[in-house]
Amino acid sequence: MIGVLKSLTATMGTFMRKPVTIQYPTEHRKVPERERAFPILLWDFNIDEPFCTGCHACERACPVECMTVTMRDNPLFAEGKSKRRKIIDEFYIDYGRCMRCNICVEVCNFDAIAMNNTWSGHELSTVDRKELILDLDQLLDLSKRKDLQAWDPAAETRASTEGRPQPPIAQVGATEDAPAAGEPLTVAERSAEEQDSPPTP
Ligand code: SF4
Ligand code: SF4
Repeated sequence: MIGVLKSLTATMGTFMRKPVTIQYPTEHRKVPERERAFPILLWDFNIDEPFCTGCHACERACPVECMTVTMRDNPLFAEGKSKRRKIIDEFYIDYGRCMRCNICVEVCNFDAIAMNNTWSGHELSTVDRKELILDLDQLLDLSKRKDLQAWDPAAETRASTEGRPQPPIAQVGATEDAPAAGEPLTVAERSAEEQDSPPTP
């Protein structure tokens, strides 16, 4: 008799317990803050252009060579609205080859790329691998819609530099602003210098 009561108690306890499962795909569990899906590009809302300058640093560092980057002259720089002399022109990432290593995020000098940390970065099933090659608009889409919930370490850096005195936009990159001989270049200056150097034959 005691055994029967114990069994009934266990059964009732299980019956009353809150379900541990969810109704996927209509319900989703919260994605952990530092989860990494695939890389996406970030939008600079202050200037209304991408942070990416097309410097190729991520493309060169990508171990599986799944990125393609081209740059162009930035028309907003010529208008004095942006301090980016160069801006991204075309950007492709083949998610079918990307191994989500985060190296592209680490090497970016402009905090222009972050790992997607939403469900949209995981639900990419398709029957055509070509659909896994994302172009510039698709890579910027999540950030432009402000739907990005990703852990974005670069955001902290950007927030900490907000309010700091900045050089007038028109003077950035002008010859008279070049550092004196022997003065070390900042990372951004080094990168800008690389952009302007002719490709090595
Ligand atoms: S996460 Fe790694 S593999 Fe994927 S694009 Fe970036 S560097 Fe390449
Ligand atoms: S390293 Fe950053 S700025 Fe350079 S091309 Fe890649 S995402 Fe753009």
